[in-house]
Amino acid sequence: MAISTDHLVVRYGAGNAAVHDVSLEVRRGEVVALLGANGAGKTSTIHALAGEVPAAGGTVLVSGEKTSAPLHRRVRQGIGLLTEERCVFTGLTVRDNLRLGRGSVSDALDLFPELHDHVDRPAGLLSGGQQQMLALGRVLAARPSVLLADELSLGLAPVIVQRLLKAVRAAADSGVAVLLVEQHVHLAIEAADHVYVLRRGKVVHDGAAAPLRGAPDAIAELYLDR
Ligand code: ATP
Repeated sequence: MAISTDHLVVRYGAGNAAVHDVSLEVRRGEVVALLGANGAGKTSTIHALAGEVPAAGGTVLVSGEKTSAPLHRRVRQGIGLLTEERCVFTGLTVRDNLRLGRGSVSDALDLFPELHDHVDRPAGLLSGGQQQMLALGRVLAARPSVLLADELSLGLAPVIVQRLLKAVRAAADSGVAVLLVEQHVHLAIEAADHVYVLRRGKVVHDGAAAPLRGAPDAIAELYLDR
């Protein structure tokens, strides 16, 4: 199992837990969508998997290592993290942004040929969609074993989101384990093999993506809070 959490708890300060009880698994070659309303605990789960917030309870394993392991051991986990912030340096050229990654510039451009004509321009001149291609291309060119993608589609048109998800799907097909947090629920379900739905920090649905495709009523049902 490339990614697994078992009864994960995440707490900020002394307040209520943001994540109460999340157990999930992602295998290599699989895209798993982590869905749920705002504040359900999706980002907190991703942050715990990336080792950015400690687990207050339960366990988190990525590539067989605890995310609480020292950094030099966690490097071997091969985590590719794409956060909502994107981390594109707008004053640097596209090429220099790609050089900041651990992969090669040409691998990133092979993944997103759309960036070719812009490679010597400042990244700040790219559209939002192109900037996200840059961020995703940089992460995937490093050949991670695990991709944690939080809100890949934030503020982007559905046609761009589909393009990005196609690249994510291709990465999974080449053996990456992908955990995808996504507001575009229908597009995420199209791209995913498996779906978890969180509500108030807990897993309330765990099942294959296929039965949810083209089933808006079934999806709406998962989001109902009762
Ligand atoms: P969204 O889609 O809005 O990002 P989410 O499902 O990703 O939602 P989280 O961001 O994980 O949910 O938030 C879960 C809960 O934890 C929320 O109640 C939120 O207010 C709280 N929370 C998140 N980050 C922090 C933080 N840094 N400090 C304190 N509370 C936080």
